[in-house]
Amino acid sequence: MKNKLFFTLFLTSFLIFNACAKQQKQSEKQNQQKEKNVNQSSEKKVELNPEIEKLNRVLIQLSDECKNAIPNGNPQEFLQDLHAVLQSEKDFSSDDLSPFYLIDKKHTVSSDYIPKNLIPLKKNELFDINKNNLSLRPEAYEALKKLAEAALKDGIKLTVSSTYRSYEYQKNLFDYWVSVDGLEEAERESARPGTSQHQLGLALDFAPVDDAFDETPAGKWVYENASKYGWSLSFPQGYEHVTGYRWECWHFRYIGKTAVDFQKKWFSNIQQFMIEFLDLWKSE
Ligand SMILES: [Zn+2]
Repeated sequence: MKNKLFFTLFLTSFLIFNACAKQQKQSEKQNQQKEKNVNQSSEKKVELNPEIEKLNRVLIQLSDECKNAIPNGNPQEFLQDLHAVLQSEKDFSSDDLSPFYLIDKKHTVSSDYIPKNLIPLKKNELFDINKNNLSLRPEAYEALKKLAEAALKDGIKLTVSSTYRSYEYQKNLFDYWVSVDGLEEAERESARPGTSQHQLGLALDFAPVDDAFDETPAGKWVYENASKYGWSLSFPQGYEHVTGYRWECWHFRYIGKTAVDFQKKWFSNIQQFMIEFLDLWKSE
């Protein structure tokens, strides 16, 4: 029955679309009557709700799996939530890539892309770091501090293992994993250079970078609480065919709370689906 939900949303938007058209036609009729009364000619065109039309165009282009992930709902409410997400984009520096930049095995960033502003992570009271030269975009850095502070209040000290990675660093890392695990296995966990969320400076890995993280108190806490601070799990369990990566319980991307809420409410909490939708919406 799940696949019916998309169609319901689609159908509802279609109905609203039609209702709008009908309403417009009626008001046009009234206008024409008025204009007739004052002996004026009218060549007004019927204007349909362009947002609903656009939503329909975008929904059609989504993968079947993404369509199936969208629950039943009111298109107007969806659009309202969408606009809140687009507004929240303004909380991020406007002279850098969007926090919703689509990057995956098929969508890349150039080899010379470096975030405009990177804040180095230093030894501090809130969280531990297990390497030098870690850095994040300012928005993610501030969000990490808030997350770590909340964790500390619950008696959990988070350890950050990986943050921004340059194209070159990612290239060496990918080559290393290919040499250890072979290409096929490396592809499941390590990104080719130019395709990693880490190059965007808004993603991080908690330690240990291992399935074992999920069972640690920190892992359990992060799983429950990260979204409250705008952090989204990028590669959830059971979605390798969608994200291109096996479950990575340690890897989170900062997109802001409004977008995480949108992801939860309308995209079955799958970041990839939401980002794909936003990418299509913006390019329409
Ligand atoms: Zn990662």
